[in-house]
Amino acid sequence: MPITVMELYRDVLPKTNCGDCGHPTCLAFATLVIVEKFPLANCPHIDEGLLTRYRDRLVEQQSGGASVKKDVAGDAREWAKERGSSMRFEDLPARIGGKLVESDGMPALELPYLNDFILITRDTIRKKTGGELGHYQQVFIYNHIAMGGSALPAGKWVSLKEVPHSGPKLRSMKAHVEDHLVRRFQGKPGELAVEAAAIGGEPMIGFDHSADAAFLFRVMPRIPVMLLFWDGDPADGFDAEVRFLFDETINRHLDIESIMFLCELIRELLCGGEEK
Ligand code: SF4
Repeated sequence: MPITVMELYRDVLPKTNCGDCGHPTCLAFATLVIVEKFPLANCPHIDEGLLTRYRDRLVEQQSGGASVKKDVAGDAREWAKERGSSMRFEDLPARIGGKLVESDGMPALELPYLNDFILITRDTIRKKTGGELGHYQQVFIYNHIAMGGSALPAGKWVSLKEVPHSGPKLRSMKAHVEDHLVRRFQGKPGELAVEAAAIGGEPMIGFDHSADAAFLFRVMPRIPVMLLFWDGDPADGFDAEVRFLFDETINRHLDIESIMFLCELIRELLCGGEEK
């Protein structure tokens, strides 16, 4: 059996996302080893015994071309689903909100999701209206199911840098999320309001008097996210600024990878682009 991205991530890599291999996360590195044939030894933190056990198998697999360009998203979804399925279904409403309903004769959790509803059964996650969700959105939701720790939103907002283990992600947040939003909406706060409303963003007038706009996204019942926007004036040397705020309980419900995914998803939905 070829070694998969998830096997490598789950059983071999330290999962600390330290970035010493030159990649932002262990999962990104695992993908490059399997798909692009990067040497496993580029991670300097692998247990010596594990490195010896996997290195030769990987070299053989890489030289034979097995498992190259496989369905990494599908693999990630199956792994996240396995984690999520260890949770008792009946406990989900107390842990992540929503309500238990019946769908096609099966128990299902109906959960608000942005401006829509999703149905989660033991085998699938889909929109209540029947539409499909992208693989990575399903990974995100399964991760929330696996972590969701009952805590209700406390109403105290924190920035990304106040979320534990977020240090290595701050640059990525600026480059992949905030800068895109600034380029798209600088000088166009009205367009931001229209796009935010289209995905369920509620204007929060007076939330922060220094900001030109604030929008609350109720992503899921335990996961509110606030987006603040300060418009800029490039002629005067001031660029616009964007900041995401999270409820202080966010790390009880999502790991740092999932928080980043969520911000990228909101950016994509606001700016337009391929849905994940
Ligand atoms: S070096 Fe890369 S793969 Fe190794 S622990 Fe750090 S981020 Fe993960």
